[in-house]
Amino acid sequence: MHDPPRPRSRRPEARPANGEIAILWLTAGLSCDGETVALTGATQPSLEDLVAGGLPWTPRITLFHPFLAPEVGDEFVAYFHRAARGELGPFILVFEGSVPDEQNKAEGYWATFGTDPVTRQPITTCSWIDRLAPRAWAVLAVGTCAAYGGIHAIEGNPTGAMGLPDYLGRGWRSAGGLPVVCLPGCPAQPDNMTETLLYLLHQFTGHAPPIPLDDSLRPRWLFERTVHEGCDRGGHYEQGEFAEAYGSHLCIVKLGCWGPVVQCNVGKRGWMGGVGGCPNVGGICIGCTMPGFPDKFMPFMDQPPGSLLSSAAVMTYGRAMLALRRFTLASMNQEPGWRAGRSGAP
Ligand code: SF4
Ligand code: SF4
Repeated sequence: MHDPPRPRSRRPEARPANGEIAILWLTAGLSCDGETVALTGATQPSLEDLVAGGLPWTPRITLFHPFLAPEVGDEFVAYFHRAARGELGPFILVFEGSVPDEQNKAEGYWATFGTDPVTRQPITTCSWIDRLAPRAWAVLAVGTCAAYGGIHAIEGNPTGAMGLPDYLGRGWRSAGGLPVVCLPGCPAQPDNMTETLLYLLHQFTGHAPPIPLDDSLRPRWLFERTVHEGCDRGGHYEQGEFAEAYGSHLCIVKLGCWGPVVQCNVGKRGWMGGVGGCPNVGGICIGCTMPGFPDKFMPFMDQPPGSLLSSAAVMTYGRAMLALRRFTLASMNQEPGWRAGRSGAP
């Protein structure tokens, strides 16, 4: 029996030409592939916009993503081997999932991707990071798992999971001179991913300054405000109107929302096509973009301890303001007095 012939690559050009760049998306960390699923919902820009190359000041890109590639198996993994040997040209490495500690056990492995062409043994994800990260023009850690460890790094986990900056070291720099760019979220917001990729592509072509990052390596413009500052329910919070059960349009801080102390833009940006965003649609914010997630935000359904004082203080001020506003509102619903006699009415 002969092996069936492997299909030839359907890519017109498998190696980026001069001025072009590849995006290697590695989903082999400990993860649920949530960023990959979320990515398909991006609209500003969409993944198709990026790949089609119609956006100004962007190079042509070749995307190598295990879920979206026309190749499968060894034919797909071959691109990663070529990148590791420096034969693929410049590339951005996008990493999804947390990095396990492969040294914390006597045998076996936590995460792998592909096999060694000679030994046919699985190649650990850590080995891929070691091979690819030093050659990458930029490294983007998508999702809280890749950025800070996330769910897998919860206290007591056996994997020793960590984020990519902890694995590579805080002083690490890519071939393009960048630290790991972290895009947290569980999953990361779709447009945050494509917009950050777009920024990096602009930087690659010399049309943008170095990407501005905060102390947690997040793009500043995406994470400098809290959920609360962009929440549709913020007016109710300010008036001391708090929901006691789900299904209400009032502020849900008493149900467990951490929005006032969480840096995330989904309140403003929505989730897909500008629609949604956790508290806007009734879901408590559980702080999934934060380095302290999940341990520091548990148990998720309890009122955050810090909000007990602030919501009590807001109740005093807010309820008084609400009463005055309702009085004024009732007045504003009446036409001005001088109009009363226009139609001959008394
Ligand atoms: S629901 Fe959460 S984020 Fe929105 S106003 Fe209330 S506390 Fe703030
Ligand atoms: S609003 Fe909170 S739970 Fe929702 S994505 Fe942002 S940080 Fe995560």
